[in-house]
Amino acid sequence: MTRTQLINEIKLNLDKKRHEAQILADQYVQELCQNEEFQRLYTNYNQAKIDLIKLKFGGSDIQILEATNTFEKIKQLYNNYISSHKIDIRRMEPQYDCSKCNDTGVVGLKMCECLKLELNRRLNEINKQYKFVTFNDCSKDLSPSLRKIYDMAKQWCEKYPNTNILNITMSGGTGTGKTFLLECMASELINRGFNVMFTTAFALNDECRKYHFSLPSKVNEFMDCDVLIIDDLGSEPLLKNITIEYLFNIINLRQKRYKPTLISTNLIPDDILNRYDDRIHSRLSNKILALNIQFTNADMRKGF
Ligand SMILES: [Zn+2]
Repeated sequence: MTRTQLINEIKLNLDKKRHEAQILADQYVQELCQNEEFQRLYTNYNQAKIDLIKLKFGGSDIQILEATNTFEKIKQLYNNYISSHKIDIRRMEPQYDCSKCNDTGVVGLKMCECLKLELNRRLNEINKQYKFVTFNDCSKDLSPSLRKIYDMAKQWCEKYPNTNILNITMSGGTGTGKTFLLECMASELINRGFNVMFTTAFALNDECRKYHFSLPSKVNEFMDCDVLIIDDLGSEPLLKNITIEYLFNIINLRQKRYKPTLISTNLIPDDILNRYDDRIHSRLSNKILALNIQFTNADMRKGF
């Protein structure tokens, strides 16, 4: 599920809650209106209020003055009745949990704090299955070139989604820190409230196989999540009509939707071309949209 889908789901729940609060208030007023005296006062009070508002948009000064006097008299009677009958006036209006946004989730054009809190709570729930290392867990003794890579990766996470670079491939031998860095990036992005999926190429391949044979699978989640991380590309078996086709479709569709895919692999770029195909290779080597980080020499080159 994407962040946007999550927000929409929360907003739907808020709508439901607002609706329920409105029904409760209506029910209370209906109960009160079973008393004839209250009903008469309540109707008169509301009618006088409406009359006054209408006149303020086009009535003469005298009409407005008269309507104001009438309204004030009725209001007095109405308020007297309410205080002498211990009526809970708050219950006559819908009771919203958030006074800032009245449970709409929006203040002006911005997301209300209550919506942000709920969004973070849900994202944490989704992501709690992961226990990732963070940039704070990085060794202080990183080599200068590795430090440069880590800083750049952190900056990318901080800038996302304001970045052109959508496909990042980290190439290099085992134990060079690629997976560690991907985990740091995952933590950083999750903390910023994005939905990150972290999978191995092996598991991804298996989900694609299930999808191909119409079994329940996570393929749609791989397509939809904000950031997809594929660890150890190249370690999965090549399944005919599945591995390359689905990998291409996932990377390509995500790229079209401006959704990043981060990959670690032991393969060098030429291996990627040979093992998969030029469509995948070109998506991962695009000079503008892709970044390749070489861990072998702990140096970094853009594109490959
Ligand atoms: Zn709110």
